[in-house]
Amino acid sequence: MNLFKKKNYIFSDINSLKGVGKIIKGYLKKKKIEKINDLLWNLPYSSTDRSNLVSLDKLEIGKIFTCKVKVKKYSFPRIRNLPNKIHCEDDTGKIDLIYFNSKEGYLKKILPVGSWVVISGKINFYKNKYQMTNPDYVTTLEKIEYVKKNIPKYSLTEGISEKIYRKLIERVLSEMPAIEEWYDNEFIINNNLKNWNDSIKELHNLDNEKNLKSSSYRRIVFDEIISNLVVLSYNRKQIKKLKKEPKQFNKKYDALIQNNFNFTLTAGQKKIIEEINSDLKSSKKMFRLLQGDVGSGKTIISLITAANTIESNYQCALMAPTDILAKQHFNLCVKLFKNTSIKVNYLSGKTELKDKKNILRDLEKGKIDFIIGTHSLFQTKIKFKNLGYIIIDEQHKFGVKQRMHLSKKGGKNCDILLMSATPIPRTMMLTVYGDMDISKLTDKPTLRKKIITISKPENKIHEITDFIKKLIKEKNQIFWVCPLIEESKYFDLTPVTKRFDYINKNFPGKVGLLHGSISKDEKEKILKKFLNNKIDILISTTVIEVGIDFPNANLIVIENADKFGLAQLHQLRGRVGRGKRQGVCILLFKKNLSKNSIKRIKILKNSNDGFVIAEHDMQLRGFGDLIGFQQSGEKFFKFADPVIHKDIFLLAENYMSKIDSKNEDLTKFNFLLKLYDKAEIIRTK
Ligand code: ADP
Ligand code: MG
Repeated sequence: MNLFKKKNYIFSDINSLKGVGKIIKGYLKKKKIEKINDLLWNLPYSSTDRSNLVSLDKLEIGKIFTCKVKVKKYSFPRIRNLPNKIHCEDDTGKIDLIYFNSKEGYLKKILPVGSWVVISGKINFYKNKYQMTNPDYVTTLEKIEYVKKNIPKYSLTEGISEKIYRKLIERVLSEMPAIEEWYDNEFIINNNLKNWNDSIKELHNLDNEKNLKSSSYRRIVFDEIISNLVVLSYNRKQIKKLKKEPKQFNKKYDALIQNNFNFTLTAGQKKIIEEINSDLKSSKKMFRLLQGDVGSGKTIISLITAANTIESNYQCALMAPTDILAKQHFNLCVKLFKNTSIKVNYLSGKTELKDKKNILRDLEKGKIDFIIGTHSLFQTKIKFKNLGYIIIDEQHKFGVKQRMHLSKKGGKNCDILLMSATPIPRTMMLTVYGDMDISKLTDKPTLRKKIITISKPENKIHEITDFIKKLIKEKNQIFWVCPLIEESKYFDLTPVTKRFDYINKNFPGKVGLLHGSISKDEKEKILKKFLNNKIDILISTTVIEVGIDFPNANLIVIENADKFGLAQLHQLRGRVGRGKRQGVCILLFKKNLSKNSIKRIKILKNSNDGFVIAEHDMQLRGFGDLIGFQQSGEKFFKFADPVIHKDIFLLAENYMSKIDSKNEDLTKFNFLLKLYDKAEIIRTK
């Protein structure tokens, strides 16, 4: 096989495999198996023990056995829908093989009368006789060793039997050319990994349960993480190459702005403002992530650095995920910039056409310095006179590909800052954001008191009602969160509408209701009412906008709190206590709490740090449940599990940082990238 063929074998269409015709191809496609590569990645999850070879007097009903039997007689009924029967026996007993939807000719061929054959399958018992219905294997005696053993078990679709699938995968494993290693042999051995060719073979020859810690599994996990890191490293290098005109400013607006808020910046805020300032002043394009827990004060950082950009004669754009949040940023901006000459405006999908036209014209002429709006600003073709800085709030919905695309936005001189409150556990930071520079805001404004977290059984709900009365009297507002809106047979969750009726009875006219089936406009109206203190209690499913500041909301009640992840509970409680008063979070539970739930509540009560909580959450529920990542639509890993394989993540990060610091050529990973479907991300730029 020449080199070209060798490398391409694995990536060729499943069609090219002998034994795969149109029909099988169709079945495989249902399992998303379209290339030989996909077949390799469909790993067996356990195995079927067919090693039990017994005589017919030793059969047990319901179990899988392999037997040597002699074919005695056919019984092919002339009535449709009745199965074909083949009577077999050995020296100790009898068994009938039962075939539905089978062709007589085929049966006669594989089971000639008078011959001895090997059969394997599940035993059942009918009308006083042992039966095997549609045996998994029927072969000649010579092939007994092929059947009599542990056979890997795959998740398969209807239409493909273990027997057929096994043939395909065996064919691939034997035909597949050996692939050249991309790591040093020494490295592989020292780190309890295995070389790729052996790993793949071993993983498909599973003779027991899948072992996530075997050196062959560790190997493909390591590969998967490295493939991710290579893409990020590649993107990072591309971004670092982007040159821009350095911004020049003397922070002339800093003092003016700081006069307009009644607090002093935290040390963390000051440090990050300086980091961003020096990025703005450098000749390299900034592509930075500002990560900070809910309420840590990210907005002000972005506004102060925006003012510096504007001093340097550039325009800025700030984008938020929703209208309300964008509007809130705009209002804050107007307040903070009031003693400056900076011209700020607001643009959203709802802006009237006439106003929109004016705004677009002014942006093009440079009469507006700072435009604030929703993420849809992206979609609109806006011409700026001289855009120098894009700020994107609550960015966790962007994946790697989108970020690569984004880094080019805004033209040559445009710096980019993303802000996110999604806490990523330390182990995952590089794997998720390795293409960006990261600023982490770890301290919180001292004015903010730690939110008091209380748990209560649901039958004490009346105690909360009294507490709420007192709070409302003191002009506080309340969030009340219930998961799911409809009565559900499967979960015993209190429906949000019922809860609304109950609370509305106690506080008539003071309660608003939000859930998934309410239109976007209606939702915004209700949120505005709440923001303007027209209602005191807001009942909702989980959808309370991230990032909106409701300064009077000081209590959040969360029902069925054990249905939420810790990180999510933490983000929810971060909605309250944003003003000067004490925030309280009440977690409501059905009566009997599991040990795990008690542990979870304790973590929440003891910590107010989103990063610590995210780490715990990942230990308890796995990475996929971390808030932000279920919505991002990006499935992170096929094989790697950040909890089980924590050490491999660290190993991979170390390995990659060495490669990066030596500035090694990344092309040696091309095959790896292709294996994990990532080659395209790099090529499309
Ligand atoms: P987030 O990081 O979640 O976006 P915000 O920027 O919305 O947080 O800030 C939350 C609240 O904290 C706002 O009301 C803001 O004015 C206030 N804040 C920001 N920085 C400080 C500070 N250094 N001291 C006191 N309050 C602050
Ligand atoms: Mg925010």
